[in-house]
Order: sequence, then structure tokens, then C-alpha cells
Amino acid sequence: MHDFHYKNGELYCEGVPVRSVAQRVGTPFYLYSSTTLTNHVRSFAGAFQEVPHLICFALKSNSNGAVLRLLSREGAGADIVSGGELFRALRAGIDPRKIVYAGVGKRRDEIEYALKVGILMFNVESTEELLALDRAAKEMHAVARIALRVNPNIDPKTHAYISTGLKENKFGIPIEHALECYQTAKSLTHVEVTGIHQHIGSQITEVQPFVDALEKLVGFVQELKAAGVGIKYINIGGGLGITYKDETPPHPRDLAKAIQPMLKSAGCTLVLEPGRAIVGNAGILVTNALYHKDSGEKKFLIVDAGMNDLIRPSLYEAYHDIRPVLEDPSAEKMVFDVVGPICESGDFLAKDREMQDVKQGGLIAVMGAGAYGFSMSSNYNSRPRVAEVMARGNEYFIVRERETYNDLIKGEKIPRWLE
Ligand SMILES: *Cc1c(COP(=O)(O)O)cnc(C)c1O
Repeated sequence: MHDFHYKNGELYCEGVPVRSVAQRVGTPFYLYSSTTLTNHVRSFAGAFQEVPHLICFALKSNSNGAVLRLLSREGAGADIVSGGELFRALRAGIDPRKIVYAGVGKRRDEIEYALKVGILMFNVESTEELLALDRAAKEMHAVARIALRVNPNIDPKTHAYISTGLKENKFGIPIEHALECYQTAKSLTHVEVTGIHQHIGSQITEVQPFVDALEKLVGFVQELKAAGVGIKYINIGGGLGITYKDETPPHPRDLAKAIQPMLKSAGCTLVLEPGRAIVGNAGILVTNALYHKDSGEKKFLIVDAGMNDLIRPSLYEAYHDIRPVLEDPSAEKMVFDVVGPICESGDFLAKDREMQDVKQGGLIAVMGAGAYGFSMSSNYNSRPRVAEVMARGNEYFIVRERETYNDLIKGEKIPRWLE
């Protein structure tokens, strides 16, 4: 569900005509709906109300300060993967005791930063990392609360690049080795075993992979208990999918219904790390049609947003619905490749897409772009990153200014011998 809809043939975000935002901020830009964000985070909280739980929003999906502030006010915590994300989470007012820190390559300075502010726990991905945490905590006279990220070897049936819980993936500790690793953790003086973590992949559209993975996890928690290792938090990661095209992903309620009984028996606090399911459909990318071109083989619609602004189609062959901001029932339907201005053949937003022909200067909305959109954007081809705007009811606010050319060269210096 989301709050983008047509009124008299014109696309609105809540009560705001998308066209009016484009007139003010120019194109391209990301546009987020506050109401959608609020509803999504509340639907998670409501679904899991029967068990003690903590929702840690995955910052990597969208780390805009206003988005984070909104989620923080709703009581959400954060799932972070870097010192930079920790910085953003804290700035948005997220309580450090609601922050969990994952990632296979945590640096020493990042570990120290997280220990200093007292995050809830580190999701540890290797034995060497565990030992490094113990050393760092010892030197700082602190204690590192940890969960081991176990790899349950479950196929989430999603794109290979976003599947993370299989043995061939770099993530987590194979579940067969996890007991030994927990025993090591228990023997360390500056590490406190607190939880267990898994994250099996992203854009998962069925409940079953979650159930299968959690079954393995809960069984393992019993085994740990018998071995004298107590677990307070079970973290099932993120990964719940959204509708990009015709997927019918489970509602958080369906997920809750399927897994709550297992959790109740385990008697732990549940941690969830949704990213996409919260922000994905809460955002669109608005772009302008620049030119039409016909190669004889294909028709191209060239727009002013490229793979540097939204890389998902290029990187994952992801499908995004493409909508005209102004519907024109009389316009011809055509099949286009919708491409950007970047000098790469992989620079496309849609391929062989049947859509209304949009005239030069017409606005186009790339739907479902709220997650892994701006946060994966870059300055490739020296393109300033686009503006981000948030709507609420009839008003909107620019929550990140469009970058300027000067932003592009920030920090660059010419050596003396080239002056
Ligand atoms: C990416 C990631 C998430 C969020 O995944 P979504 O598919 O966006 O819900 C959660 N936890 C971890 C550890 C991740 O790497």
C-alpha cells in the first residue's frame, strides 16, 4: 500500500501534485510519502505486538535524515553496517540501545565508535571479528554485546545478488560452526553473548523461507541453552519483499502469524530489520523525458535520470513500474527502452516497456524507488546527486537539496607541483 495516486489523470503524492514539486525543484528528484512510511512502520509494530520486539530499520535502504527522524519518532531502532550509518542514526535521534550493527568488515575505528555510544549489539560475522571486538572492548574498558550472525543455508528464492543466507554467500557463520564460536564468545572477558542473528536475503515474497530459517534458529537456541549459552534476542533480519510488478509479498501480519508461535516458545525478544518493506513503495523517482530515438531495432525514451540515480535496473535487472505524471488517454501506447544519459549501455530504467508515449518535457515517475534508490546513487559521469523531497498531506519539504557542481569537487586538492 502507498499514497501515490491519480486524481483527474494527474499523479499525486498524498495531497501534493507531483508536477508542482517538479516545477519548484527541477528534475530528477526523489519524492517520499510520510504517511506511507508511518503506515508501514506501524504495520510492523502492530503485527508483532504479541511478542516483545524491536524494529531496527535497515539504514542502507534509505538513510535520508528526515526519513530516519520520522521512523525514530515512531520508536524504530536501526540496523547499521558502517560508522557512517551509525552517525546518521544517532543524528536522527535513534536511541543507541536500539541499534544493531551488522557487516562482514567492521573496522577498528567503527567498532570503537559503536562501543563508545553503547549500541545494543554487534552482529558478528566471523571468529576473527569476535576476537577483535573483545580486544577493542578490553582496551576501552567496555563490554561488547554480541549476536552471531548464523548462516542457516536457506534459499530465499530471490535474485542471486540479494540472497545472503546460502553457504556460498560471504555472510554469517555456518550454523554447524556456530556452537563452537558461541563457546569462544562465552570464554572472552569483554564480550557478552546477547543474541542470535540471521538475514537470509532481500525481496522475499513468501513466508516459508522465514519459517524454515527460524525453525533452524530456534532449534539451535535450544541447543545453545543446553550448552549453557543463554540468548535474549532472536534477530530474523529483514528481507520482506514489496510489489514492484505483480509480486504478492506477505503482509507483516502474515509473517507474524507464521512465526510468533515459534518465538513465544523460545521466550526471547524478537528483532526485525526491515528496509525495503518500509521505504520501497514510499518513494518514487521523478524524471523528465528529454528525447525520443529510434534505432530501427528499438525505440528509446531518453530521460534525465540515469543509473547513477537509480542503479537497481542495471545492477539487479530490477523491474520498476514507469508511470506518466500526466495521463493522456489519447496518447499512443509504444514499447520503449527507457534510458538515462550515462555513457554505459547498462544505463536503463526499463526495457521493452509498453507505456504511454510521453512528449518531450513530459514528467515520468519511476515507482517503488524509495529503497536502494538514493542510498545507492553516485556521482558517476560527474552528475550531482538529485534532490529528495518529502510530502505530508498537502505540503512538502525538500529534505535534501540537489547537489551543486561545487559539491562534486568538495575535498579535491591540486598538488603543489601542478599548480
Ligand atoms: C540489507 C539488510 C537488511 C534489509 O533488507 P531488506 O530486504 O531491505 O529488508 C536487513 N538486515 C541486514 C543484515 C541486511 O544486510
